[in-house]
Amino acid sequence: MIKSNMLGNYFCTVITVFLAAMLMAACSDKSMIPKITSVPYNGNADIFVQAVPNLPDNFMFGADISSIIALENSGVKFYGFNGEEQDIFKTLADAGINYIRIRIWNDPFDSRGNGFGGGNCDVNNAAVIASRAKKHGLKLFINFHYSDFWADPGKQMVPRVWARMSIEEKASALEQFTFDALKEIGKYGDIGMVQLGNETNSAMSGENNWNNISLLMNAGARAVRKYNKNILITVHFTDPQANRYAIYAGNLKEHNVDYDVFASSYYSFWHGTLDNLKDQLDMIKNEYGKDVLIAETAYAYTSDDGDGFANTVSDSRALYHPFSIYGQALSVRDVIAVAADTGAIGVFYWEPAWIPVGSDFTTNQEIWKQFGSGWAAIYASIYDFRDAGTYFGGSAVDNQALFDFSGHPLPSLNVFKYAKNGASMRANLIDTIPDIEMMQMLNEPRVLPNSVYAVYADGSRQEISVTWNQLQLSAANTLGDYIIDGTAGNTNIKCFLSVENENFIVNGGFENRDMSRWVMTGSISNSGHAERRTEDARTGASSFHFWDNEPLNFTVTQDITGLTPGRYAVTGYLHGGDGGSSQDCHVFVQNESGYYRSDVRLAGWKSYQQAVIYIDVGASGSATVGFAVKCAANGWGAWDDFKMFRAD
Ligand code: CA
Repeated sequence: MIKSNMLGNYFCTVITVFLAAMLMAACSDKSMIPKITSVPYNGNADIFVQAVPNLPDNFMFGADISSIIALENSGVKFYGFNGEEQDIFKTLADAGINYIRIRIWNDPFDSRGNGFGGGNCDVNNAAVIASRAKKHGLKLFINFHYSDFWADPGKQMVPRVWARMSIEEKASALEQFTFDALKEIGKYGDIGMVQLGNETNSAMSGENNWNNISLLMNAGARAVRKYNKNILITVHFTDPQANRYAIYAGNLKEHNVDYDVFASSYYSFWHGTLDNLKDQLDMIKNEYGKDVLIAETAYAYTSDDGDGFANTVSDSRALYHPFSIYGQALSVRDVIAVAADTGAIGVFYWEPAWIPVGSDFTTNQEIWKQFGSGWAAIYASIYDFRDAGTYFGGSAVDNQALFDFSGHPLPSLNVFKYAKNGASMRANLIDTIPDIEMMQMLNEPRVLPNSVYAVYADGSRQEISVTWNQLQLSAANTLGDYIIDGTAGNTNIKCFLSVENENFIVNGGFENRDMSRWVMTGSISNSGHAERRTEDARTGASSFHFWDNEPLNFTVTQDITGLTPGRYAVTGYLHGGDGGSSQDCHVFVQNESGYYRSDVRLAGWKSYQQAVIYIDVGASGSATVGFAVKCAANGWGAWDDFKMFRAD
């Protein structure tokens, strides 16, 4: 992770959140963003792509379009770059894609044949995709989840028919299933690579210890080798920002798992910096001698939602690239560049075609249910009641597609075609001028910055002067949240201004990477985490996030000194779930006047509950503020927005 001490200093001096946010945007990931100046602005492309050095000719440019058949069955149409309706496999091939990834669920249907959704991705679905891909010379990367529905770090459920089997029986069934599936799909397409389990950070197919997981993985590997010894075998993990890949690779080695490629997901809004990803993959290559692969990546081109079902990301404020067509292309290019730099064999874009089946939510719900073209259908409740059966719906990634909501390819789709030799537009232009956020104290002068950053299509940044609506600004004279309109060049922007009492907690919103003022005690298992993450924020982009598959018990504190004696309020927010009936989550304050606590419950996702404590600060001018979590295994949640302010 790139750390910047400079940021901490700015925060300590209670400079505006805006300045800190700008600094984070300006310097957080800059070291990994190549300068664009070598690209001449005289090309005929409609995006900028700086040529990626060291890109081998056989580099895999992949697209996972596992949901495509369900989408087409739902009436979704796709078009080519010329505007005519066209087979999406041809459009992808035209854009430089040479590999198609397909997920396989063992049996994503109920007993009446109703599909669980998410594309109803069984072996038959894969066979249809295989034959379509083959027509356009696209190879196949077969991704076995070894589950009847989605497998990811949060759930690795066993297929129903394997549920009562011993581990030996399960391994045998998995081997047979893998072999039969490959044989069937191989009749129609050209399988080049196979993945054994999906994001198997701590479990697979209902098994959560490495003796059993490795038995299953090796059973899958035997089937692949028996089917065709030239096929690459991949294992797949995620959360590179947790820096646990050495542990996973060590487990695989210790248990003699037979594989060729160690694959990672990489979504920049969740998974840390590209530098950190590169460190993790370099380590795998150098210390374990395995090939590496980025099996999933994506980036949003808009904050809009196209189908009435909320998207996983819609806020680009803490990210380096804007959510725009240019920003999307630049983001994918960054990932390809890091992959090439580390010697990875490929980059796969996840579900670039999972676009809306329509714009009306109520109509869409029927279509998703009928054709399985949403992420989950209600029929999945018999298998995964808690998640899919409760939150079923449409596409949560339509704004991360490489096709617009009506099926036309975005210019950014061509990033794959351009990656090797680069491409440029005739001229550079302003892509976006981001809105800004500010926090000011009530007693500070109400002054906004006179310049902001404009982000250009090639990714470069330039300052541009801005004028603010002074009437609105002068009206922001009591505690509260305000929106101030501004004009920068020809662009209207907004400043989201929060006027507050002085907050004496440093980095109480966890927006700053420098967490040195917070001190954590307690232990987390190798699978779990309790740390600042760019995830599930109540405000801003980051929170203090936690999850573990073992019971959680940790405390995080901050010592505050130099306070003027008087009465103070301390507040903080918690959301989350699955904490169990005896959970104990609270905020506390301790100093010479005593120990005070305020309890909050894990009340659901984004259902933030506020803790409030009033405390008297005496002559010492000091207090220790903290938050604590004690809950059951698989509890999860996030703390955010800690404040301590005068409440006299
Ligand atoms: Ca959506």
